[in-house]
Amino acid sequence: MAQVETTPERREESDNFSRLLDALRRRVSKQQFATWFQRTALVRWEGNEVVIGVPNRFYEEWFQRHFRTLIARAAEEVGQAPANVSFEILPALPAGEGPAPARAPEAGAPSVPPAPTPTVVEPASAVASFDLHLNAHYTFENFITGPSNRVAAASARAVASDPGRAYNPLFLHGSVGLGKTHLLHAVCHEFLRQQAGERICLLSCEEFTNEFVQALQRHDLESFRQRFRNVGLLVIDDIHFLVGKERIQDEFFHTFNRLYQAHRQIVVSSDAPPTEIPTLQDRLVSRFKWGLVANIDKPEMETRMAIVRRKATLLDLEVPNDVVEFIAANFRNNIRELEGAILSVSARARVASVPIDLSIAQEALEPSLRDGRPPMTLDRITEVVAAHYQVKISDLRSKRRNRSVSHPRQVVMFLARATTDLSLDEIGDHFGGRDHSTVLYAVRRMQELAEQDPNFAAELERMKDRLGVR
Ligand code: ADP
Ligand code: MG
Repeated sequence: MAQVETTPERREESDNFSRLLDALRRRVSKQQFATWFQRTALVRWEGNEVVIGVPNRFYEEWFQRHFRTLIARAAEEVGQAPANVSFEILPALPAGEGPAPARAPEAGAPSVPPAPTPTVVEPASAVASFDLHLNAHYTFENFITGPSNRVAAASARAVASDPGRAYNPLFLHGSVGLGKTHLLHAVCHEFLRQQAGERICLLSCEEFTNEFVQALQRHDLESFRQRFRNVGLLVIDDIHFLVGKERIQDEFFHTFNRLYQAHRQIVVSSDAPPTEIPTLQDRLVSRFKWGLVANIDKPEMETRMAIVRRKATLLDLEVPNDVVEFIAANFRNNIRELEGAILSVSARARVASVPIDLSIAQEALEPSLRDGRPPMTLDRITEVVAAHYQVKISDLRSKRRNRSVSHPRQVVMFLARATTDLSLDEIGDHFGGRDHSTVLYAVRRMQELAEQDPNFAAELERMKDRLGVR
């Protein structure tokens, strides 16, 4: 809100800050936003350092405890890079009629505004090292099961009820938007309910990485490790981000062993099964295979329809059957998109002040069905493929011929043919003027390989998922 000063140099920073506030506005309730965020100012946003000014010590502590992770996530979204968020007291800021400035947070005053949604759940022992940001809707009750996810859901329930014994570790994998994060949160909710007093640590692989890097910089690995020692449940989301990070894999291995030996439950998610995460250390792969590896597949039509119905109920919407079917038939690959479709239809009906019916649904979804996506480019494909194989973009575009770059290069050519209208020559040009027969050869070769090798076919699917092509 308030900006400390507005010299031209700071314009970009303050633009970012308003985008950050917008992102936060979407993540917390109106009341929380008014109580907390309207009294903040940007002190500094340099690289990944984001310093936010708050009116007093009470705010500072409250932000540290309850909002730091939330703000870091939002800042990452805005700045498209990991963000390190800290707070600074700016007495000039209005403290307002919100929380009483002099009161310490420990007092647990009832007048204190509610914690952010996604809810912050303090474990009963109240010695949480990480804030636990659980989305209140991501429960087992709200998770619709079908053949595509039944094993994953059942094993998630089992580890919450019988932690450390049923399956340890539990490794859930599936492509984006199929409910991995939802199930991980559901495990935490259920664990908290059944294992009163036990501590939980839930974090994304990126948070684990960031915390680790910060601990290294502070020369304080000990307190980093200490955080994981006494938890009953460690949950790490999107573990595939461990690719190519040797030291962090070492550290994770270490953490894993300690918890495992103490019969503490470990649950991780990933976009691929352990054996297919490139550059994941063998010893980690074999650890993951000690427990249960469960896949979440794309849901069938029936399951998608059930999800649309459940979502409609949660949103208090009247959605006729033909609309449920229409939405479920058109959004097959990603439940998040399915949910987005329901929201678009409901918004359209609200604006037009008509009840939801098939024609309003068709109208609302027509643009995204026609193809609301930005056109695919060779640059985007190259970027995704380079990240997948952990090679440099410049190597892919160079003349180098060894297999570690020539294979990914052929994958780019294949994906470019499959997802763009570019000619063979145009694709060849992107790779330093290779001629069209080279490209044609690559495309055919990859096609054959995908037919012979289901693992490779699955890798291609995952890269397509990342590119957002269906
Ligand atoms: P992922 O982590 O695999 O990318 P998420 O867990 O974020 O996916 O799921 C995306 C959205 O879809 C969430 O809003 C989640 O609640 C919803 N969702 C996914 N699977 C189901 C399901 N089986 N039943 C109900 N909602 C689901
Ligand atoms: Mg997720």
